Amino acid sequence: MADQYVMQDPTSMYADKVPDEQYLDGPGTDREMAQNVPADHGEETYRGSGRLEGRKALVTGGDSGIGAAVAIAFAREGADVAIVYLPEEEEEDAARVLGLVREAGRTGVALPGDLTDAEFAREAVARAVEGLGGLDIVVNNAGKQQHVEDVVDISDEEFDQTFKTNAYATFWVTKAAVPHLPPGSTIINTTSIQAYAPSPHLVHYAATKATVNNLAKGLAAQLAPKGIRVNAVAPGPIWTPLQPAGGQPPSALPSAGEQTYLGRWGQPAELAPAYVFLASGESSYVVGETLHVDGGMPTP
Ligand code: NAD
Ligand code: MG
Repeated sequence: MADQYVMQDPTSMYADKVPDEQYLDGPGTDREMAQNVPADHGEETYRGSGRLEGRKALVTGGDSGIGAAVAIAFAREGADVAIVYLPEEEEEDAARVLGLVREAGRTGVALPGDLTDAEFAREAVARAVEGLGGLDIVVNNAGKQQHVEDVVDISDEEFDQTFKTNAYATFWVTKAAVPHLPPGSTIINTTSIQAYAPSPHLVHYAATKATVNNLAKGLAAQLAPKGIRVNAVAPGPIWTPLQPAGGQPPSALPSAGEQTYLGRWGQPAELAPAYVFLASGESSYVVGETLHVDGGMPTP
């Protein structure tokens, strides 16, 4: 694939990346996905142009998928990057992404830990500030998605863990980060098309995404007077480990992208420019916005 500045037909991009039916245990990893249909995080293609020169970014879930593409793009745009990931399963993915951050000449900070633990969420922010020498970009992106067809089968624990990972951690990280953020800083929450159009088999997950979307809008109003802009990105179906790791039933994987206007899955690399735009000063008058990157789907 050519880089992001080359005109390309979006309908025929990634024609070779149609996943088959598969299931990954645990959170899933890019390493495992690469054995089948590897995702594109912009490794070979993302070209930076100094849009985040000297910035200091924390990206939760930066080891794989969308967060990995964001971490790579941020570094190539000139930012130092700290990433949060799960220590047991994701060390290898994280090391790969941090390697690419350092190859771009930037500082990469590893923050392994479990964001469903409030204490760790606060500690992760403190260690990011220490490791980066400050903080001015926060991307709340770590997420848990498990499909459950019937509400009577959603266990209380599953409901709780999904809210802890997606919604509570966003609150804990943001609350800990705000005192460190100078004017000009930016916060970006990863929400979802699910916030607007919940699928019947993802109701609890969708509710968390509505929460983080709404948090972005409320906090945008609250933090704007401090010079901190808060926005959200709402991805559609993106080929990341979360999907084969129980995010969708395996039988839905080959066709999940067909519902979009482009008729295909999106790749993490196609999300990164939206985060770069919202993180950088280019978006100085964009506040409380949700940027939809979903291949075209009806949204309000
Ligand atoms: P991903 O699996 O690559 O990333 C999710 C990351 O969340 C994991 O890598 C993991 O490091 C992190 N995480 C999960 N639980 C955690 C915990 N308890 N503590 C610390 N970290 C934890 O998948 P992705 O699709 O890139 O997900 C990134 C975000 O994008 C998620 O918030 C997801 O809800 C959202 N999203 C994804 C899609 C999609 O189609 N893939 C669509 C809309 C929104
Ligand atoms: Mg991961």
